[in-house]
Amino acid sequence: MPEFYWRELLERLRRLWRASLQLRTVTFSVLMSAAAISIIGVYMAVSVGANLFDSRIAQAQVTAERSNVAAQTRFDVVDQNVTADLESAMGLAAQAALQASSTPAGTQIAIVRSPDQLGPRVPVDVVSPGLDTALIISPELRSEVRTSTDRRLYWQSVSLPRTDGGIDPGLAFGSAIDVPNSGQYELYLVFNLSDTQQTLSFIQQTLWLGGAALVLLIGAVTYVVVRLVVGPVQMAAETSQRLAAGELQVRIPEHGDDVIATLARSFNGMAESMQKQITKLATLSQLQQRFVSDVSHELRTPLTTIRLAGDVLYDQRDNFPPTTARTAELLRDQVERFDLLLADLLEMSRYDAGAVDMDTEPTNLVRLAEDAVEAVTPLAESKGSELSIIAPGGYFEAEVDARRVRRILQNLLGNAIDHGEGRPIVLYVDSDANAVAIAVRDYGVGISPAAMERVFDRFWRADPSRQRSTGGTGLGLAISLEDAALHDGWLEVWSEPGEGSCFRLTIPRIRGQVLTGSPLELPPNEPEAMAP
Ligand code: ADP
Repeated sequence: MPEFYWRELLERLRRLWRASLQLRTVTFSVLMSAAAISIIGVYMAVSVGANLFDSRIAQAQVTAERSNVAAQTRFDVVDQNVTADLESAMGLAAQAALQASSTPAGTQIAIVRSPDQLGPRVPVDVVSPGLDTALIISPELRSEVRTSTDRRLYWQSVSLPRTDGGIDPGLAFGSAIDVPNSGQYELYLVFNLSDTQQTLSFIQQTLWLGGAALVLLIGAVTYVVVRLVVGPVQMAAETSQRLAAGELQVRIPEHGDDVIATLARSFNGMAESMQKQITKLATLSQLQQRFVSDVSHELRTPLTTIRLAGDVLYDQRDNFPPTTARTAELLRDQVERFDLLLADLLEMSRYDAGAVDMDTEPTNLVRLAEDAVEAVTPLAESKGSELSIIAPGGYFEAEVDARRVRRILQNLLGNAIDHGEGRPIVLYVDSDANAVAIAVRDYGVGISPAAMERVFDRFWRADPSRQRSTGGTGLGLAISLEDAALHDGWLEVWSEPGEGSCFRLTIPRIRGQVLTGSPLELPPNEPEAMAP
């Protein structure tokens, strides 16, 4: 579960990263400024630290030299043979050395006798309380001091333990002192650098805090700047999406005279002229639809009269000379065709006007298929085509408008008979939990690939001259496609010239459901014995 959660989170972040230009720009600028500020910060911290310690060392060195001179002077003026004087000179020398070092409190001193010296061991060593010479001052420094001949100053950095357990940085300076009659002593001054360290820490802390604040500021400034620039672009993108979705009246607000305002103005200009054009076309198309619908309606009445008159003539054709009789037959055929065409036109104009209602009820599709087959059987027989239904078990009930589905089937079957070359025609019906499908398969002339793209177009026929004889209007498949779409269904075609065609209708079993697939293949897998 947690792993799934992480993956989900990562995926969401990845999407956010790809989708947000603002996020990417702010992240880049924060990262880059953080890197630059870190480099500058480290450089400054290091150089300030080095400078601070260098000047502190130089200062301590001067101090230590002065202390050495002060201490040595004390011994130089004392009477060498009086031990008590020497003892007190030692104390005074230590005091003088400390005084000479005008350093802050915390400086510690040690005057210790070098080992292996001749003469009596007077005076005794002086060591500041708390200063452990053996621990703090390294044997190397001691031996350097001890073996020096010219009272030179030697130094080393040391770590000074604090009472609270911590460690302070420090400097230890050592130099030799000559005590009359007692040989060589070593003077050590230990400076505590904790104040310098504190100053440095403070400077570093200020640097880091300042750097972090600067990075945050840069992030915030970038955010605001990008927002200023991206905001209008985002708005333009959203507006164009809404325009594309059909909200033709949306516009981008225009402020000021900058480049963004120019973009908004030209975008709005484009939207304006598009809206005008589309409205014009829509009005035109409405006018045309109205015209078609009106003409079809207007033609109905005279056509009915013509048909009645034609029927009278047709019924009396036996009394006419042969040419007149043939004319009466032709008249009847063509009037029938005219009637069909008018009915189709009216139906089409109803679709165009969006004025169609569905009358759905749970319907058994196999029963419907049988009805449709029965209706076209006389026509099929006249053409020599044998009709059969293949319907393996399934959920054949579906919520459909039976009249429309029957019309689709009759149209598909009519086409299959017209173009089936007298070969068998098979109607497949199948279904699954989500959809029902009916496929009409013929083994006739088939449709060329170029023609396949146009079969559903209005008034389109592959071979108009042939069509004329069989009475098609060229609107059949266009109406069937509209009927299928009304059911949220699909009407698809497969065809190979010379091998026949297959039209497959797929409809969701429950009205309003979205189709994801069809229960039938296109063309359906035919049983072994089926192929002609
Ligand atoms: P029509 O009224 O002419 O049949 P349709 O819209 O039903 O109009 O069909 C358009 C054209 O598609 C037909 O004229 C025919 O050329 C082609 N067509 C339709 N069904 C088939 C089929 N089963 N086999 C070959 N061609 C077909």
